[in-house]
Amino acid sequence: MSIERVYREAKAMEEGLTDELAGVPSTEEISTHPMDELLRTERLPHIWCPGCGLGTALSCFTSALMRTDLDLDKVAIVSGIGCTGRVAGYLRLDGFHTTHGRALPFATGLKLANDGLKVIVFSGDGDLIAIGGNHFIHAARRNMDITVICANNFIYGMTGGQVGPTTPTGATASTSPWGNLEHPFNVPNLAAAAGATYIARWTALHARRLEKSIHRALLKPGFTVVEVISPCPTAFGRANRKVYGRDMMEFYHENSVIRHGAHPEDVDIDLGGQIVCGEFVDIERPTFQDRLRDLHRRKALAEYQPWAEVAVEGRLDKERAIRYETPLDVGPAGVGEGPSAEMPREVRLGGFGGQGIILSGKILGRAQAIYEERQVSLTRSYGPEARGGACSSALVISDAPILYPHITRPSLMVAMSQAAYAKYRDELADDGLLLVDADLVDLDPDADQDVIRVPATHVAAEELGLRIVANIVMLGAMAALTDVASKEAMRQAVLDSVPPGTEELNEKAFERGYEVGMGLLEERNQEHV
Ligand code: SF4
Ligand code: MG
Repeated sequence: MSIERVYREAKAMEEGLTDELAGVPSTEEISTHPMDELLRTERLPHIWCPGCGLGTALSCFTSALMRTDLDLDKVAIVSGIGCTGRVAGYLRLDGFHTTHGRALPFATGLKLANDGLKVIVFSGDGDLIAIGGNHFIHAARRNMDITVICANNFIYGMTGGQVGPTTPTGATASTSPWGNLEHPFNVPNLAAAAGATYIARWTALHARRLEKSIHRALLKPGFTVVEVISPCPTAFGRANRKVYGRDMMEFYHENSVIRHGAHPEDVDIDLGGQIVCGEFVDIERPTFQDRLRDLHRRKALAEYQPWAEVAVEGRLDKERAIRYETPLDVGPAGVGEGPSAEMPREVRLGGFGGQGIILSGKILGRAQAIYEERQVSLTRSYGPEARGGACSSALVISDAPILYPHITRPSLMVAMSQAAYAKYRDELADDGLLLVDADLVDLDPDADQDVIRVPATHVAAEELGLRIVANIVMLGAMAALTDVASKEAMRQAVLDSVPPGTEELNEKAFERGYEVGMGLLEERNQEHV
């Protein structure tokens, strides 16, 4: 607010002349900016130099985003390193200021983990096209559903004005005082050759057109790219006789032409030539996410006919759960309460290398993620030994997105070796359940834990003639004794996961484990009567 305005307002108040201010916005009204909703104003003033184009690029972006009607709670912005890398931190959105050149891998991960997000990468030419260049072409090739705003100031601005991948041939930089010898990347051509669906270029002078293009890019599915030619008077301008932001703007004004639909090959930037601006590419291609959804659908229909309905239409509801063989209700928490009980749940499977503990974790995760359509995170650890070292699979199973993948207090634990029992049993939740291999684990007589001893190794070795399937016997018993996954989901996951040719043996091991588990359950029932 101007000093004059403050003075007038104070004077009018003092003299009771409130009418004088009729129709004039109040102090409160003028102290908020229309962009405030999207800006972290507490972080302002920004760090950018006077005359820098990044402020213009950011305000074009914010006003384009506000016009999209996208749910801002579902918009994530990712930046890399450099002056442009500060953008994510100034926006009141879920933002990530990532490591150098890695904005696109972070963005790809976000999009894969949550397809419902609108993911935007806002970064500089050095970050996106030099160290991140490989990520750029591969994200475009995959047609990841991500919008990229690339602020191209022809130089590494923040780090000292070194020559970069987009520095025009002949331009001076701190590392090329006699002029750049290299041919610069043509960003639209690079994006087009790799497969982007929408590509536009504007300078910071074309603010309205830039805003419109960003708006289009945000709403178009696929890998969409808007290049913003942006003044960097401090690093590029000073080295090239364009000391002020205004000099750069004049340069854009005199040298840029608008040529919509120009072939990206023809829009190279040459210091003495024209800067061709416009919308160059606007095509339709299936996104990576489209292909992924289609794959899941086809896979479900082709391989899992009985389950296709579940996989395609969504998660099992309670009614459908009656198709599962629900374990008996035997009382203690975590046992026999049906497939939906107590989410999220943490599970630890421990043993030694060679027992198939890692495979067991994969099977349990698959049963939950594919057949029960839950969220699952699986972390694994094993010693350096090929056989015999300590080994563990840890799973978080949840109906909601999992924000932290490691377990802290498992409610279900399996110990198939003495070492695993000793190492992990103290982390079991107070009301948790511990399944141990009856032949391989001696219980601590002083421990006050709910334990069921499952003769998994004995059944595998003596009845099935192959000790190596003890882990599958244990999974069968687990399906009978606990509600961690339904029997059918677990059986399908076993068949999906074991090596081809061993399905019959493993199915037998699983069924036998289930019978053993049901027998143990019955014994517990009788003890509880
Ligand atoms: Fe902008 Fe260049 Fe200053 Fe960085 S160094 S803030 S890009 S003018
Ligand atoms: Mg740069």
